Amino acid sequence: MIIGVPKEIKNNENRVGVTPAGTMELVRHGHTVYIQQGAGVQSGFADDEYVSAGGKILPTIEDVYQTAEMIIKVKEPIEPEYSLIKKDQLVFTYFHFASSEPLTKAMIDSRSVCISYETVEDPDRSLPLLTPMSEVAGRMSIQQGAKYLEKPLKGRGILLGGVPGVAPAKVLILGGGVVGTQAAKMAAGMGADVTILDISPKRLKYLDDVMPANVNTEYSNEYTIRKHIKTSDLIIGGVLIPGAKAPKLITRDMLKDMRPGTVLVDVAVDQGGCFETTKPTTHQDPVYIIDDVVHYSVANMPGAVPFTSTMALTNVTLPYAVQLANKGWKAACADNEPLKKGLNVINGDVVYPAISEAFSLPL
Ligand code: NAD
Repeated sequence: MIIGVPKEIKNNENRVGVTPAGTMELVRHGHTVYIQQGAGVQSGFADDEYVSAGGKILPTIEDVYQTAEMIIKVKEPIEPEYSLIKKDQLVFTYFHFASSEPLTKAMIDSRSVCISYETVEDPDRSLPLLTPMSEVAGRMSIQQGAKYLEKPLKGRGILLGGVPGVAPAKVLILGGGVVGTQAAKMAAGMGADVTILDISPKRLKYLDDVMPANVNTEYSNEYTIRKHIKTSDLIIGGVLIPGAKAPKLITRDMLKDMRPGTVLVDVAVDQGGCFETTKPTTHQDPVYIIDDVVHYSVANMPGAVPFTSTMALTNVTLPYAVQLANKGWKAACADNEPLKKGLNVINGDVVYPAISEAFSLPL
């Protein structure tokens, strides 16, 4: 199959859909991989590395879309890309269709075949192509939180791990899923005093078994949250109710119970945020302060570490990409139930229930 990897053109998107390692793997299976010039540079991959791995470089995004039978990328196509996508072209990327009617209509009109990373679903209902980005964001939440706790950045001026003779900072993590677990590991590793709150007893039991001694678990409810926020230095929001907006676990009135310089990192911002005062921010302008409490709520945290994020994403997407290239989408999806769940739009027809419901489109 002829595969095309365009350079991402969405603002501040520095990841790339296929690495040189992925290129080598696809070429090894007999496929031709065209990379747009400079597509991997922001993730640390020069054009030469793709060429050494057996890839071919094309100068423009138009060339890539015109040449390829399958496009592998990262972000959903944006308006300038709509008209580049051809009938029967297979597009394998994040789409997040339910949040964009124009994108949905454009892909229907293109008559392409759209397989969304975010709806590929394992039998246990986990989303294997979303997990690595939660891992990145979870780990990064502590890195960012530690930074904004510094006094010059308006934080409380406390070191996460303390020093001998001085108590460490207290980190409260709401939600002990992928984000929360990775955040807890990082914070614990830095020596902080960590508490994870979750509503799943099964999850709390698991976390209690695997976490080090400086991580405690408690059942999440308003009482427990109110108790902890008074003494927490850093609070991470990592809750998720699949398919729903995040619950507002910290309300505006609770901010007055926190100490000045407390830092809130709302990773769940992409689902509306789990703090009432959350509004999406960007890497250019990541924080704002309300009632002396520092809020960090960047909607695309993994975008700041494209080298790690690209590797983490392509590690999980590549096996599916190889199957799609080897067998074609029909046979690959027939043989692989999780991948089949990724099918969203086929030649002008919406085939994913949540998208048809979102825009009252026939299924
Ligand atoms: P997950 O499903 O693995 O974990 C969510 C956890 O929240 C679950 O353990 C669940 O039991 C718990 N939970 C639900 N309601 C709760 C409550 N009231 N109190 C405490 N815990 C509760 O989800 P995840 O992969 O960790 O993702 C968490 C959020 O982070 C999602 O909204 C996801 O979209 C977001 N995210 C954001 C970025 C970013 O860049 N900002 C990146 C990746 C993921």
